[in-house]
Amino acid sequence: MKLIHNFKSPNFNRRKYNKIEFIIIHYTALKNVNESIKFLCNKKNKVSSHYLISQNGEIYNLVSEKYRAWHAGVSYWASKTDINSISIGIELDFSPNYKNNIYGTKLINSLIKLLKKIAKKYKINNHNILGHSDIAPYRKIDPGVKFPWHTLKKNNLVFNPKIINFYLVFSLRKWFKLQNIRSKKSIMIFMLAYIGYDISLGINKKSNFNLLLKNYQNHYLQRYSKKNLYKKTYKFIERHFCTLLLTK
Ligand SMILES: [Zn+2]
Repeated sequence: MKLIHNFKSPNFNRRKYNKIEFIIIHYTALKNVNESIKFLCNKKNKVSSHYLISQNGEIYNLVSEKYRAWHAGVSYWASKTDINSISIGIELDFSPNYKNNIYGTKLINSLIKLLKKIAKKYKINNHNILGHSDIAPYRKIDPGVKFPWHTLKKNNLVFNPKIINFYLVFSLRKWFKLQNIRSKKSIMIFMLAYIGYDISLGINKKSNFNLLLKNYQNHYLQRYSKKNLYKKTYKFIERHFCTLLLTK
C-alpha cells in the first residue's frame, strides 16, 4: 500500500497509553482533499488525524502512528475517555455539502486496505473499529448516513452479532424484569452502555436517545427497511449484547 508522506501535521502529542485499541473513522466536512490537508496541517486548528484518504483513494499519512493525533475530541467508549491516546484516526475526504458527497469505490477500497493493515498490526477486533458518531453520539454524526458500513461488514470489519439461543433471550428478558428494567427504551440503554456507548445524555432526554439510536442504526442496521425499525433495532441490540456477553 502506497502512503503519501509529503504533508505532515504539527497537531499531535505523546500518547498517554501505549496500547492502541481503536480505529476511529471520520469525514472532513471540507470541500476537497487539498482543503483538508491545509486544515489538518494548520497549527491554529489544533486538529489532525493519522491518515487522510482522498476521493481518488490516495492515503496521506499526516501524523505518525506513534503519536496521539487530535481527531476524537471529547469522546467516550466503554469507560474510556481519552480515545485519542488509544486510537488511530482516519479522516475521509467527504462532505455532505460539496461535490465530494459520495463514498466512491476508490476511497472505500483504500480505506478497507488501511483498516485491515492497522487492525492486524495492533490486533484490533472489529468491535473496536468505530465511527466518530459512536464515541461522541450527541455531538457528531460522521462518517454519516452515506458511509457504507455494509461494505466493511463484508470484509469482516464490522462486529457481526451471532443468532442467539432462545433460552438465553428468555433468561435475559426475565432478568431485566427482576431488575425492574421494564421499558424497551430502558433495556436498550442498559445494553448500549454495556456495548460501550456513552448513555449519560440519552437517559433523560428523548431527543438525545433518538440521536444515540440513529447513530447505532447507521452503523449496524443501515440496510434494514424503515418498517418496524424500532423493534428490529431492539432485537439487534439484544443480539449484540448477548454475543458480547458470551465472548467478552
Ligand atoms: Zn470526526
